[in-house]
Amino acid sequence: MLRFYNSLTRKKEDFIPIIKGKVSLYTCGPTVYDTAHIGNFRTFLFEDFLKRVLLARGFEVYHVMNITDVDDKTIQKSVAEGKPLSEITEYYTNLFKQDLSSLKIIPADVYPAATEHVDAMIQMIEQLIEKNHAYVTKDGSVFFSIDSYKNYGALTRLNMDKMQHSDRVSTDEYSLDNPQDFALWKAYKDEDGEVFWESPWGKGRPGWHMECSAMSMEYLGDHFDIHCGGVDNKFPHHENEIAQSVCAVNTPFVNYWLHSEFLLVDGGKMSKSIGNYYCVSDLLEKGMTSEEIRYNFLSAHYQTKVNFTLEKQHEAKRSIHRIMELQSRLNEIDSDLCNDFPLEVEQFNDALENNLDSPKALAVFFDWIRRINISMDEKTLSNKEASKGLKFISYFDSIYGILPKTDSVPQGVLDLSKEREGARQNKDWEKSDELRDQISGMGWMVKDTNDGPKLTPK
Ligand code: AMP
Ligand code: ZN
Repeated sequence: MLRFYNSLTRKKEDFIPIIKGKVSLYTCGPTVYDTAHIGNFRTFLFEDFLKRVLLARGFEVYHVMNITDVDDKTIQKSVAEGKPLSEITEYYTNLFKQDLSSLKIIPADVYPAATEHVDAMIQMIEQLIEKNHAYVTKDGSVFFSIDSYKNYGALTRLNMDKMQHSDRVSTDEYSLDNPQDFALWKAYKDEDGEVFWESPWGKGRPGWHMECSAMSMEYLGDHFDIHCGGVDNKFPHHENEIAQSVCAVNTPFVNYWLHSEFLLVDGGKMSKSIGNYYCVSDLLEKGMTSEEIRYNFLSAHYQTKVNFTLEKQHEAKRSIHRIMELQSRLNEIDSDLCNDFPLEVEQFNDALENNLDSPKALAVFFDWIRRINISMDEKTLSNKEASKGLKFISYFDSIYGILPKTDSVPQGVLDLSKEREGARQNKDWEKSDELRDQISGMGWMVKDTNDGPKLTPK
């Protein structure tokens, strides 16, 4: 049984989907005003990990990730660059999708863009006004009245009395019923340039929180299984999403809320001025592979902060190499022994099922690698066990995605390897060694097995 820590109840709970065998999953996507940084990708990789575990447990997953293509930041950028909003957001959406694919993140089933769902947002706001959960201000904005929803603050355990008191003075200027009320619809201001939609309340645009409520409901229904994001999304974003959605339709909204902790770089916040602000492409340019990035992020539990440093590449390289080395050793086993070597798949699954304990699952896996290597050193491993071991490795990799695909061997390396095969067949050992060195210079190791040469990254 899968168990997740539910941020809403603050407990680990058995995961029971609304429809048996199916999972509806919503993950907050990027705001496409700039290239997403590796902090964002820590969260997206956690969500990918969650999805891979669900898929491996046999669930059918329907995954929605929104694209926030209208908000203060996207508008500011379009005005600053004198370009239409859509030109900016399409550019960064494409970059985002390239990064997702570089990191081998399984694509969502749908990536709805906020600007294509404004009608649904307006409808939802109308429902909220009708039910007295929202009101229109003089300038034509619409605000959600948090006093109208008695459970407001349940996700983050807010003490509303205290907050209202301390913030009242500074927010009086907005003439809100309550200073904590948040915007569902923002009336047009000159700074918005060309960006506005017509609405029953005049020209304007939706508030960010409204985007996720309307799009999750449109694609997953009023009530769905899992909603994820980084911890910074809990408040106010997710708190406000819950309030809007529950009040609009009077049904429960989401059953399980999962939040991943932050990524730190060099022990602190990433910063452009310190020079340690990285995007995925920066790391790839520095020679780190997608697999090494995935290993680094996934080796920590999603609820703990992970500290990223460039030096961690070595540890990732070593670990990945150990797995690939074992793979080639297992491929070479040729023995008709009949021993029974324990696989540890059960312990591995137990760790994953216990709130996605990735470091524990890795520890189980690497301990198995250590022991199976000993068994091979002692020549006690059978063919049958070797092939079971290979299956375990590929099951492991269906979840972690840290082994480079053989077809990702660069063409140049494949050509050299082919040429070397020719040299070996002609018994031209000198040429063969020369080619091996060349292949090695390109970062690949070639091993000759009964099935032909096997290439592994060094
Ligand atoms: P944004 O584009 O700012 O809306 O962020 C997209 C996602 O990245 C959200 O789920 C955030 O919670 C998450 N996020 C932002 N910064 C970090 C960070 N340093 N570490 C982990 N997740 C982050
Ligand atoms: Zn969201």
